[in-house]
Amino acid sequence: MASDRGHTRLICSLTSPDAVSMRADMVAAAAAGADTVECRLDLLQPAPNERTLRSLLADPPLEVIATCRPVRQGGHFAGEESWRLEILRLAVQAGATFVDVEDDVDPAAWPAGRVICSFHEMDGCPPDLEKIVRRLDDSPAEVSKVAFTASSSQDALRALDVLHNARKPTLALAMGEAGAVSRILARKFSAFGTFASLRRGAESAAGQLTIQEMRQLYRWDGHSHTTSIYGVVGYPLAHTMSPAIHNAAFAAEDLDAVYVPLLVQPGEDNFRRFMDALADRPWLHWRGLSITIPHKANALAYVGPKSCAKLARQIGAVNTILFGSRKRLRGENTDCVAALDALCEAMGIRRAELAGKTVAVLGAGGAARAVVAGLREYRSEVTVYNRTLDRAEELAKTFSCRAAGLDEVAGMSAEILINCTSVGMHPHVDSCPLAAIPPSVKVVFDTIYNPVRTRLLQRAGEKNCLTVSGVEMFINQAMVQFKLWTGREAPADVMRRVVLEKLDAGGA
Ligand code: NAP
Repeated sequence: MASDRGHTRLICSLTSPDAVSMRADMVAAAAAGADTVECRLDLLQPAPNERTLRSLLADPPLEVIATCRPVRQGGHFAGEESWRLEILRLAVQAGATFVDVEDDVDPAAWPAGRVICSFHEMDGCPPDLEKIVRRLDDSPAEVSKVAFTASSSQDALRALDVLHNARKPTLALAMGEAGAVSRILARKFSAFGTFASLRRGAESAAGQLTIQEMRQLYRWDGHSHTTSIYGVVGYPLAHTMSPAIHNAAFAAEDLDAVYVPLLVQPGEDNFRRFMDALADRPWLHWRGLSITIPHKANALAYVGPKSCAKLARQIGAVNTILFGSRKRLRGENTDCVAALDALCEAMGIRRAELAGKTVAVLGAGGAARAVVAGLREYRSEVTVYNRTLDRAEELAKTFSCRAAGLDEVAGMSAEILINCTSVGMHPHVDSCPLAAIPPSVKVVFDTIYNPVRTRLLQRAGEKNCLTVSGVEMFINQAMVQFKLWTGREAPADVMRRVVLEKLDAGGA
């Protein structure tokens, strides 16, 4: 663990096009909990003069970094270099605490003051990152800053390497959605600071989170080198609810832990490289992972069948990884018990009472495999109905049950119907996998959780069937993960509230 280099600043980048609004945003950033602001002087129109800089920077309510990024390093200032450096000199005179100077500027030309020497690569992660950081560290600047674009969360781990090995106060940021982990974990690794925006749409770089997200969702203020790390690996992750659910649960249980999104491109090789990168960095103190589309089968292969629970092996998918002692990993699948418990709780029965119940499962994909594995474990009579008959037959063979085409579903005689197809899922909320609910059906469980009440469940309700929403399965699987990771009972009400709020807000 890198030694503590002092307080890690939450730095709000200010991107307004005029000095009056930038000053107002400075006050708003202080009120929102930022420690420092970065005034992006290159975004001011017209370019600021001495009077503008005095009105912007006199007696600031918090520490200010003055930045006037040139076009050549991803900024907007297109004027003469001597003019740019003069703006920075005037900014220091007007009241800026720090001045950001790019690493290609001769130190002899730097404005007098406390300098952050910065390097930016917008097109990817530089292969010679360590060399670049050494060059920044060898400069006379007080702070080194390196920012590059991450295409995968594996790149973002390289920003954490820079912080871990830092020789002086350092900012190391991976830009883009895949870089989020480098921003969120900056305090754990004693960075000089991390950047956040005042509001959505006001970001100064791709992937920047808002101050509110950093403080409320990720509980930035409480992070320290002891904070345990968890996360979700998937692609895409833009609509994942998992960080909201798990961070809220950690907060409710007052746990020193944070849960982060980890974007890893599809493909077994990409997954393996990312997992190897985590294993190579034991100092991260990673504790657990959720695995989502498209990496559940890759996770089973990576962890190895012998280290996975029997049900996960049968399903062919791992959605939860636990990091044990001496780098040992364990793979679990919490979708299966989550589905069974959602069904049993709604029906008021124990799992053992599923024995002999007749169940029609629609679909033969990942969700169907988890549901069928659980039902067969408890000896339900299952028929799998799928659009592609071959897939239904393959699934039925694995779990010794029956298979049929989806077009045969009208003639079925099962008591319980479980939809594991994606038909009816947001945004196609008017679709329904069945034209009518067959008369034998008493219970309808739709594994889709967005929307909460699908067209299928509406139809089932009209026929007085007992209905079960996929939301219950979704909450259950997160609760089981929480218990596996922490050994504690999950705060169910908190998790349910977060999921329903997110779905209400259209955030899923
Ligand atoms: P998947 O592996 O891609 O499988 C999709 C299934 O839907 C396949 O059986 C596919 O049939 C069928 N399907 C897709 N479009 C269809 C159409 N137009 N008509 C008929 N069948 C169609 O996906 P998955 O991971 O199993 O997910 C399926 C659903 O389960 C999703 O809606 C997801 O939200 C839900 N789910 C919920 C939870 C939860 O916690 N509540 C967890 C996991 C999944 P073919 O084989 O013919 O393509």
